[in-house]
Amino acid sequence: MNSIAEPTTVGVIGAGIVGLSVAVQLQRDGYRVTVIDRDEPMQACSAGNAGYLSEANIFPPAAPDMLLQLPKLLLANDGPLVIRPAYAPKMMSWGRHALSVVKGDVRAMVTRTLASMTVQAYAMIETLATYAGAAQLLSRDGGLVAFKNAQALDKKCELLNVWHRHGIQVHRLSDAAIQALEPALSREIVGGLFFENSGRCSNPRRLGLIYAEHLVRNGGEVVRDQVNGVSSQSDGGVIVRGAIEDRRFANVVVCAGFWSEELLHSHFKSIPIASERGYHLMLPNAGLSLKRPVVFGEPHFAATPMDEGLRLAGTAEFASADAPPNMQRAEMLLRLARQYLAPIDETGAKPWMGVRPSLPDGLPAIGTVPGQPGLHYAFGHAHNGLTLSAVTAKCVSAQLQRAAAPIDLTPFDLMRFERGYFSSKQPRATNAL
Ligand SMILES: Cc1cc2nc3c(=O)[nH]c(=O)nc-3n(C[C@H](O)[C@H](O)[C@H](O)COP(=O)(O)OP(=O)(O)OC[C@H]3O[C@@H](n4cnc5c(N)ncnc54)[C@H](O)[C@@H]3O)c2cc1C
Repeated sequence: MNSIAEPTTVGVIGAGIVGLSVAVQLQRDGYRVTVIDRDEPMQACSAGNAGYLSEANIFPPAAPDMLLQLPKLLLANDGPLVIRPAYAPKMMSWGRHALSVVKGDVRAMVTRTLASMTVQAYAMIETLATYAGAAQLLSRDGGLVAFKNAQALDKKCELLNVWHRHGIQVHRLSDAAIQALEPALSREIVGGLFFENSGRCSNPRRLGLIYAEHLVRNGGEVVRDQVNGVSSQSDGGVIVRGAIEDRRFANVVVCAGFWSEELLHSHFKSIPIASERGYHLMLPNAGLSLKRPVVFGEPHFAATPMDEGLRLAGTAEFASADAPPNMQRAEMLLRLARQYLAPIDETGAKPWMGVRPSLPDGLPAIGTVPGQPGLHYAFGHAHNGLTLSAVTAKCVSAQLQRAAAPIDLTPFDLMRFERGYFSSKQPRATNAL
C-alpha cells in the first residue's frame, strides 16, 4: 500500500450500476479510478431490475392512503408488499422515519427534490452511456401505467397536477388510446397514464458491464476484494481495508447499495436503510411483445421488453438480505401478468431476486462523511437506482471537485436522519406538493 495517496486517485466501493456510473464519470473528469467489489461487476440488485428509466417515481414510499391499506397488505402472505416476521424489529426505525415524511413540508420537499433529479435523469444517462459506448441499450418511447379499475385510475389522476408542476410530461389515456400503443394489453384495461419522456434500458446488466470495460480500457481498475472497513487518515487520504489488501486513495466513494450501512455505521448515529427485496421473472419466449415498460396500477408491478425477452418485475418483500429467496413471489408475477396481458408462454421462465437499498424517505444518500475528509457516499436508491445512476454520478463528481452539482445536494445528506430536514443546513420547502 502507498503511504501517500496521489491527489487524483479515487476508490469506488461497489460495482453495481451506481458505483460503475460514478467510476466512469470520475474517470471522464480526470480521476484515476479503482472500483472494488467482493463479486464480479453487476451481480447484485443492478443485474435484474426492470430497466425502466421512469419519470413517475417522485414521491416518498409511504403515502397516507397506503397507510390505511397497510394491515390488509401485510396480512396477505402472497401480496405485493410483505414484511417477514423476523425482519419486523429492523423495520421500526425505517417505519418511524417513513411516517415522518407522509405529509406536510417534508413530503413537499422530498417530492420537489426527487422531481428535480428525475427530470434530468434521462439526458444524463444518455450522455454517460453514449460516452461509454452503450447508447444502443437505451430508448425513449415513454412509459405506461395501466389500470383495470376506473376508481383506482381516477385516484391516480389526482396526482397529475403534481407531476405537471414539477415539469413531468404525463397525461391520461383512454382504453382505446392505451390499446393503440400496446396491443398486447388485455381488453379489460380501462385506461392509464402515459409518461412521455420516460425511457428504458434493454439490458441493465450489460450497461454496467460496458461501463466496467470502458473504465478498464481507459486505464482504470476493477478489483475483487471484500471491503471490511474504510476510514480517513490524519496525514491525508482514505484507507480501504480489504480482506486481500489494504488500499489508499485521496478520495473514496462508498456505493455498496444496501450493504453501505455496514461500512459507514460507525460514522453516523443512524442509517435507517432496509432490505426491500424485489423479484423478477424473465420470459425468453413470452409470445407477446411490448414496445415500452408498462406498470400495472393494482397491484403494482411492471412488464418491460428486454433484449432477452419479457421481464415481469416488482413486489416488495422486507426481509433479511441474506435470507433464502422465496421464488414463489417471482412466479406470482406471472399469475398477475396473465390478468393484464395477452396469453403468455412461460417456457424457459427464470426467477431472480435482488435487494433494493431502501431509505425511508425515498431520497438516496449522497454526501461526505462528517469528520472523514475524502470519504464520500452514494447509495440508497431503492426503486430508482438505474434511472438516477448517471445524475448521481454527476453529483458525486461535482462534490469531489467542489463544483456546483446539477441539483442542491443538501437534502441527500445522511445527517438528515439525525438532525431533521429543516435544520440550518436543510432548506425549508413550501408546503405545496
Ligand atoms: C425487481 C426490481 C426491479 C427494479 N426496477 C427498476 C427500474 O425499472 N428502474 C430503476 O431505476 N431501478 C429499478 N430497481 C432498483 C435498482 O435496481 C437499484 O436501485 C439499483 O440496482 C441499486 O444499485 P447499487 O449500485 O446501489 O446497488 P447494487 O447493485 O446492490 O450494488 C452494490 C455492490 O456493492 C458490492 N458490495 C457490497 N458490500 C461490499 C463490501 N463490503 N465489499 C465489496 N463489495 C461490496 C456488492 O457486491 C454489489 O456489487 C429495481 C430493483 C428491483 C429489485
